[in-house]
Amino acid sequence: MLQLLKNRGGATGAVESSFVAVDGRKHLAGVAFLPAIGWFEITLLDLEALLPRSYLWPLVAVFLTSLLVTLILFHLIIRSRILKPLVSLESAVENVRSGSFTLPHLEKPNNEIGRLAGHFEKMTDTLGNSTRELERKVEQRTDELNRLARIDALTGLKNRRGLDEALDEEIQRAKRQNTGFGLIWLDIDHFKAINDELGHQAGDDILCRVALWLKAGVRPYDHPGRWGGDEFVVVLSPCDEDTLCQIAARIRETIERDSIRTGTPVTVSVGGYLCQPGDDVDTILRQADQALYRVKQQGRNKVLITDGSGQEINPA
Ligand code: GH3
Ligand code: MG
Repeated sequence: MLQLLKNRGGATGAVESSFVAVDGRKHLAGVAFLPAIGWFEITLLDLEALLPRSYLWPLVAVFLTSLLVTLILFHLIIRSRILKPLVSLESAVENVRSGSFTLPHLEKPNNEIGRLAGHFEKMTDTLGNSTRELERKVEQRTDELNRLARIDALTGLKNRRGLDEALDEEIQRAKRQNTGFGLIWLDIDHFKAINDELGHQAGDDILCRVALWLKAGVRPYDHPGRWGGDEFVVVLSPCDEDTLCQIAARIRETIERDSIRTGTPVTVSVGGYLCQPGDDVDTILRQADQALYRVKQQGRNKVLITDGSGQEINPA
């Protein structure tokens, strides 16, 4: 090494190093030339004294152990502060996506993810409230539409659909309870002539008045309705022969009497049918219609009630 340094011309800072054996032990030898004084400096490092081999493995073990502990701690912190909150947030998002606004418990650590989870919770709350409010409004409007779909716009009575439903209900009830009920079919006499003479608007007014008189003449639990045009139907339940005859006669009389007071006399023809348990819609409507037809044939402004055999029922 001295030779090598010499050959380099003794350049400042030049160092040569190499492992050498001294007393049979491995040393690191370093040789430097100090040009100022023309000396060589030789340094010998006993490697075994510097870092005893017996220290090495414990040091490695300590290093690995602390690395492992650090990794475990790091994992635990990441898990509790990031992974768990993210997983719970994800399942909450999944909940909302599937339409449920009841959230599972949300982990909210004191960091950005915790704040995000808090905002998500509030947003879901608001969304749930407005969805429920919207559903309530839709339900209300649907109920209102359903109600309107069964109401005659001109008279406010049940329309044909409403009457159909009331009739169906009564048919079912009659079957269950083995009782009869009544149906009245009523048609304004010469209504076309009234329309022609007084105009359509006056005709409409008369239809509305007839509806009011009809309502006034039946019981609170009966179902008066406008079948269409100048025809009205009333479903009376419960009802026996006498009640049916009385109510039908009362309606006809009320309309005749009260319409005179309005200055436009109106009369109606009334056909009625005392329905039997087991009668179907067609039978009931046909029987009442036939009774009405017979009244019209007989000169109008009358009441005619029939029973299942087509026989006329007269009030007692
Ligand atoms: P009848 O005694 O045989 O019943 O004679 P009618 O003239 O009353 O004959 P019909 O019952 O067939 O005539 C019904 C008339 O009702 C025909 C139509 O112009 C009129 N009409 C139907 N719907 C309405 C309505 O909504 N408003 C008005 N003003 N008239 C209507
Ligand atoms: Mg008519």
